[in-house]
Amino acid sequence: MEGIIIKGIAGFYYVKTEDGVLECKARGIFRKMNLTPMVGDRVSVVTNVQGNTIDKIHERSSELVRPFVANVSQAYVVFALRNPDINFDLLNKFIVSLEKNGITPVLVFNKCDLAKEGEEQSLKGIFIGTGYELYFIQAKTGVGLEPLFEKLKENITVLCGPSGSGKSTLLNKLSGKEQMETGEISKRLNRGKHTTRHSELIVVNDSFLVDTPGFSTMEFTMEPEELKDYFPEFHEYEGECRFNGCNHNKEPECRVKQEVGHTISKIRYDFYTKYYQELIEEKKNKW
Ligand code: ZN
Repeated sequence: MEGIIIKGIAGFYYVKTEDGVLECKARGIFRKMNLTPMVGDRVSVVTNVQGNTIDKIHERSSELVRPFVANVSQAYVVFALRNPDINFDLLNKFIVSLEKNGITPVLVFNKCDLAKEGEEQSLKGIFIGTGYELYFIQAKTGVGLEPLFEKLKENITVLCGPSGSGKSTLLNKLSGKEQMETGEISKRLNRGKHTTRHSELIVVNDSFLVDTPGFSTMEFTMEPEELKDYFPEFHEYEGECRFNGCNHNKEPECRVKQEVGHTISKIRYDFYTKYYQELIEEKKNKW
């Protein structure tokens, strides 16, 4: 039987299948293969007299370290429009780390009641050419949440964003139904905020939400030359610059640079050059 691991406790894994949630053990051979089943893993389960055993772990599309979850396919990147103001460097760093992990960012701007005139348009302008979807919501009252419920479908979704952005409020809204249905989860949420524990998946209809908001942006090393790959608005111009392997920085006749202010926003490009420089410095200091 096929399923998805939604939680793991003390050597037992709980696998959501068509027939409900099964308590499973993992095959001993996984340890020899240095393979640890992760929450989010798609697995095959075999059942015999000894119980249920995870027999096979399917190939992962992504692996996050914190939270420790496999196969996350999208992230709701939650930033408040005001209180606090949007920190674009941080927002762009979140986006880069998601892109590096093969996870689609969905940009969610909270406290939309505090938007200034024309602000939605100017935000859309900043992410021109990226293909990212932008949503404007008020998590507290539930305004604008419908498409976010829709988008959960068939995904494993994680929420991330700075503190004060309202990501926890949004997580509670999106998962609220399930928490009421299973008393167990609500009990667990009341257990106190300071206990460290593994992440679990909350089942919402046929989709999955990582139960802990948050996502660390700093847990990887990256070559400076790699950075451009994580700016989807540059991809269209790949190969059109004068120099092969152009890093769209100080090279002359750079097609990407020519597009800044047109199909590529200045805020995003400036962040790119700044981050590129940071990565070069980091690399120098390492040696
Ligand atoms: Zn270039």
